[in-house]
Amino acid sequence: MCRSDMTADVVVIGGGPGGSTAATLIAMKGHRVVLLEKEQYPIYKIGESLLPSTVRGICGLLGVTEEIKAANFVVKRGGTFHWGKGLHPWTFSFSSSPRMEGENAPAYQVERMKFDLILLNNARRRGVDVRERHIVTSLSIEEGRVTGVFFTDPEGQSRFCSARFVVDASGWQTRVANYAGRRILSEFFQNVALFGYYHCGMRLDPPLDGNILCVAFEDGWFWYIPLSPSLTSVGVVVGKQHARIPQPGYSEAMEQFIYKCPPIRSLLANAERITEGPYGQIRMRTDYSYQNAKFWSPGLVLVGDSACFIDPVFSSGVHLATYAALLAARSINTCLDNSCPDQELREDACFGEFEARYRREYARFYEFLVAFYDTNNDLESYYWHAKRVTGSQEAPDRAFVEFLGGIGESKELVFDAALTGVIGTQGLSRALFPEMWGVPAAEGGDRRRLFFTELLREGSQMQLQAQERFVQESQQPLFRGGLVPSADGLLWSMPLGGLVL
Ligand code: FAD
Repeated sequence: MCRSDMTADVVVIGGGPGGSTAATLIAMKGHRVVLLEKEQYPIYKIGESLLPSTVRGICGLLGVTEEIKAANFVVKRGGTFHWGKGLHPWTFSFSSSPRMEGENAPAYQVERMKFDLILLNNARRRGVDVRERHIVTSLSIEEGRVTGVFFTDPEGQSRFCSARFVVDASGWQTRVANYAGRRILSEFFQNVALFGYYHCGMRLDPPLDGNILCVAFEDGWFWYIPLSPSLTSVGVVVGKQHARIPQPGYSEAMEQFIYKCPPIRSLLANAERITEGPYGQIRMRTDYSYQNAKFWSPGLVLVGDSACFIDPVFSSGVHLATYAALLAARSINTCLDNSCPDQELREDACFGEFEARYRREYARFYEFLVAFYDTNNDLESYYWHAKRVTGSQEAPDRAFVEFLGGIGESKELVFDAALTGVIGTQGLSRALFPEMWGVPAAEGGDRRRLFFTELLREGSQMQLQAQERFVQESQQPLFRGGLVPSADGLLWSMPLGGLVL
């Protein structure tokens, strides 16, 4: 039995970057938001290398830029890779794009215990009712619509909170995302990550000393992320056959992989592995490359790892989670505005826009990574691939850097067939996309390609919003009949000229 009921406009499950961002951006519009987090923060998390889109874009919208700056995280200027054909390491720098240069740090390497706490405390300050040690156990569903959540409070009591919308941001271990759709594991990315922390690992020479370093070797690849002058996050990504290593053997396996990778071995030559506290163990993660078949259902929306993740090599996880949170917040804020006469149409339109843009961003990283994992290519070909995936009009090296910063401009997309199938129509309303639903099958492919070409015009408007307080007139819908962000970035609006239905 439930001890007592609570009511909110929105319940957010999970206080990671996805949950805190969505909750804050909804509360900023004056709605009552309850965030239920199962742990007591700060807690350990993997996912420490951030992109400029998060640091300069989302953190700006949330109003935490100065706080993040004051936290003294390591400034990440770009990445250094021993990867691809040829013996020489190569480096990219975010500031080689004029859109990411300037006085502010382009990005940071963060201890997630600190970063996530900043975002969660900011949510509290912005009016979100944050409740830690509250575990969501299931959804309440009435006539096919999610109407709230059941949860256990710190005293172990079962309780219920009703809400008009539930945001599932409970990460890769979500218990509720399968209500929207099943999880589809990637057939291509089936790797295993082993990771731990080291004291006094060497640094690259300045100005590369804050870069993420990725090194390919015969069994897979390593990441090497400086988290402070003395703390380094080191992880190895290897084939799934290594998932069979039993836990007592993790540290020995890690040592063996390090031995087989000379650049990482040299950097750690005088380092000591940390064996106590939150950084004191070697951890393993498997099955982290997936997407949900659907990202929303009436009353429920998935953001972050509850919806999808791909692979850590380009540090896209927090970017995808916070970008999705922004898109979800816009959709919910718009639907909670009761002035719309046709609420059902509004929901379909808003969440259709959410899902289309979110899948587009996921798909771009997915497609690029498939090519990047072919380590027989050279740097020039990676540049060109980034340009092709994003449809950027810029020179290939700039297209590459902007894509890796999470702010690439997309004008064309070549999905693999399976992915196109998923993205093609699911979650897109008939009212919004009549030509998508109405065309004969033979024409479907071309129309769909045209649709995606239009869909990909969004580019980096999210970042520009935060940096430059963009004007609405400059916003173009991604596709015919689509929506555009409002002037404050927190709602969807009709494009100038209205919705084409
Ligand atoms: P999370 O940060 O996981 O937050 C989910 C929250 O929900 C947690 O606080 C959890 O306690 C809470 N929760 C769970 N269940 C419940 C429940 N039932 N009730 C209430 N609360 C609940 N990303 C990067 O950007 N950069 C990187 O360098 C990077 N490296 C990675 C390396 C590896 C090996 C892996 C696997 C991932 C990496 N990622 C990286 C991805 C990154 O970790 C995630 O994408 C990111 O943390 C997702 O944020 P989130 O808010 O969706 O989920």
